[in-house]
Amino acid sequence: MATVEFDGVTKTFPDGSRAVDGLSLSARDGELVVLVGPSGCGKSTTLRMLAGLESVSAGEIRLGERVLNDVEPQRRDIAMVFQSYALFPHLSVADNIAFGMRARRVAKPERERRVEQVAATLGLTPLLKRKPRALSGGQRQRVAMARAMVRDAALLLMDEPLSNLDAKLRVQMRMEVSRLQRSLGVTTLYVTHDQVEAMTLADRIAIMRDGVLQQFATPEELFERPANLFVASFIGSPAMNLFEVELAAGGDGGGGARGVVARVGGEEIALPAAQAAAVADRVGGRVALGVRPEDLGDPAARPGAPRISGVVSGTEVLGSEVLVHVDADARPVATADVEAAREAEDGTPAPLAGSGSTLIARLSTRAGIG
Ligand code: ATP
Repeated sequence: MATVEFDGVTKTFPDGSRAVDGLSLSARDGELVVLVGPSGCGKSTTLRMLAGLESVSAGEIRLGERVLNDVEPQRRDIAMVFQSYALFPHLSVADNIAFGMRARRVAKPERERRVEQVAATLGLTPLLKRKPRALSGGQRQRVAMARAMVRDAALLLMDEPLSNLDAKLRVQMRMEVSRLQRSLGVTTLYVTHDQVEAMTLADRIAIMRDGVLQQFATPEELFERPANLFVASFIGSPAMNLFEVELAAGGDGGGGARGVVARVGGEEIALPAAQAAAVADRVGGRVALGVRPEDLGDPAARPGAPRISGVVSGTEVLGSEVLVHVDADARPVATADVEAAREAEDGTPAPLAGSGSTLIARLSTRAGIG
């Protein structure tokens, strides 16, 4: 069983900097776990420790029952795809793919069979005789993946494998990675700084910041129940609106119970029952309130949807969506539809009510956080 376990893993470099701090997480057999976080958060170091390219300062890494800490990289049964692809320029595509098998003295007929098979899966058959310089970025990326896949390793590691591709190709290759990983059923750890890539690919996502794991959960859980403000603002595009609000008793808590309202500027926002219950003991205090831009919809269509006052500071039309930037302050919210939002002049009251889900309001505010 190719399960992976990090147990209190720490990496301290000789200069004293701690790149990874007490990391504990596990990947199940066949699972695709994405490590995500801003630059310098320790994702690559985590992957490199797993691959054996970096030593572990404290804690334990296990693959199944086997402790990997002191196992040489080539004996770990792990294949890795790098951002740079690391192809040999003087070798053909076929020889690049077969390289690892040659080194391990796999017999030639078996080598050829496996190269043909993986080339067919990845659409590389017509390119097998070419040298890497005669390939596009996407094709090189596929060769790097093919080379990792033919190894039939217990574990596949990918470090920003799509970051050198243009946006369109990245989306296409993202789907390909996902399809391949699922059809191979190989346990995979994937590093990216791109939260959209993380959300679309992962079975579970580990979000890191300054070497510390912030949350390890499914994409849905991260989106719906972020563990802290960092996760809340990192996941979701455009980012979640965060306000510092005062909690007060009021409104209807559902089932006859008294509810909780959040006061921001001159407005009161009634909290949904689940959230109200969670903060019931904080009434009178100040907390951070997060509202996803896409949840600021049409109050007529969605009774109880939060309304926050503000003034339009800019609009961006993104095809079917309109992103309205609002300077939130104490003024009441004007209601208008998407057409009005498209035409909203900067400095006018914010048309925060859209028709359907096409209006997305991103609030930047003096009362806001972050
Ligand atoms: P990026 O997305 O930019 O690649 P990352 O999340 O992968 O970032 P790491 O490369 O793991 O981050 O680096 C984590 C921290 O460790 C950074 O602060 C980095 O400067 C530091 N670091 C990495 N390698 C070394 C080293 N050899 N010596 C000292 N510090 C290092």
